[in-house]
Amino acid sequence: MRDLSDTICALSTPPGRSGIAVVRLSGPQTFSLVGRIFVTGSGYKQLPARRAMLGRVVDPRNGSEIDEAIATCFESGGSYTGEDMCEFSLHGSPVLISALLDCLCAYGARLAEPGEFTMRAYLRGRIDLAQAEAVRDIIAATTLYQAQIAARQRSGALSRQLQPLKESLIGAVVNLESAVEFADEDLPVASRESIVRQLEDLRGQLKAWIQTFRRGRIIRDGFSMAIVGGPNVGKSSLFNALLAQNRSIVAEIPGTTRDLVSEVTNLGGVPVRLHDTAGIHNSDSYIERLGIDRSMQAIADADAVLHVADTSRPLLDQELALKEQLRDIHSIAVMNKSDLPSCWSPQERNEFAAGRPRAEVSAKTLSRIDALRTMIFEHILGPGGMTQEGILVTNLRHCRNLEEAEQGLESAGSALQAGLSEEFALADLHRALGKLGEITGETGVDDILSGIFSQFCVGK
Ligand code: GDP
Repeated sequence: MRDLSDTICALSTPPGRSGIAVVRLSGPQTFSLVGRIFVTGSGYKQLPARRAMLGRVVDPRNGSEIDEAIATCFESGGSYTGEDMCEFSLHGSPVLISALLDCLCAYGARLAEPGEFTMRAYLRGRIDLAQAEAVRDIIAATTLYQAQIAARQRSGALSRQLQPLKESLIGAVVNLESAVEFADEDLPVASRESIVRQLEDLRGQLKAWIQTFRRGRIIRDGFSMAIVGGPNVGKSSLFNALLAQNRSIVAEIPGTTRDLVSEVTNLGGVPVRLHDTAGIHNSDSYIERLGIDRSMQAIADADAVLHVADTSRPLLDQELALKEQLRDIHSIAVMNKSDLPSCWSPQERNEFAAGRPRAEVSAKTLSRIDALRTMIFEHILGPGGMTQEGILVTNLRHCRNLEEAEQGLESAGSALQAGLSEEFALADLHRALGKLGEITGETGVDDILSGIFSQFCVGK
């Protein structure tokens, strides 16, 4: 996959029938291949770069026309891969696509592996590794917001924000190295202290970035939320209200939702998997107990829980017992059926909410459902939701590298404070720098490249 002397080709649009299909070609033989198989009326020897040219794709082996198509050539200086490239837009028929790919391969190209175009862009220095990963995230995005966050990283935001931190760290390394050079005189205490302070400051920045990962992971991967409560409190109605569609059966008979019903909805740009669960109560029915066990499992697996109760009937002990069970879980107290006269006193409301965020809604009339959406969103993403600016770590690999860099700075600082030789601190600082370099792919990523790019689709 890393042999850059090959010319690679692949279908970049989804397989199957479509109005138009795009086949890409990249590598040193691109322009000679285009010259052999693409015939324009104007008889160009080599197509002008960055101009869409109408012509005919002809198989030179038998002179037969494969399709009328548009070819756009890009020179290595200004192409996606950093190599000579051509994109053919032809009619989206699988037989035409196969015939074109077959013809390209017959004349020296080979089929690209998943992500190989983007890997070449990285290996040719067009983009760094974090940007390449962002390309994958843009394609995988299921909401516009996810795509926008990934696009920010695609434009190099993470790499740009890392740069001053790396420079500061290199400054500390240079100071310590000069102290080692002049080994006769140890680094004066004052400068040791100032380096320790500098490292602490850098650690603070790294920690702040690492802390954004919880939010970043949620934005990138979405989150799951279980709707739980006693029977007939309106869980399924709330599930439907949040989904804004009638997915779950709503019935007056308690125990209708015996199994888990799940659906993904888009909450402010973040995909949320909602689970409607069986009503939790004391039941002797074997089938109901199975449903309740699944509800408890859904609670354990969910990132957060909506604990629903019905304020039109007295507050039951089982609601309070469930509240206790949810003590260590992110949960929102939802008091439903606000359209009906309430049986609950203010004290009972407080007792049920127990310091949790609370919402009084009507799943039937949809009163305050939008406010509940906002509350869920802020509860999950923290105050300000997604309006926060600055760095956002969305990738587990980046988070791990930041954590290891932070640990490196911590042990370097401790070594200096303990009065150990500068060499100990230097080893830790070089390790930390290496870890930061791995994020953008400057250092030590050879072993993981195949793993990263194999998650791409073919043609990207
Ligand atoms: P679940 O068993 O907790 O899932 O409850 P359902 O969603 O099936 O609702 C049980 C009953 O309560 C149904 O008759 C619903 O129409 C009714 N219900 C649900 N939410 C509300 C509400 O906000 N107001 C009123 N008046 N009735 C509701």
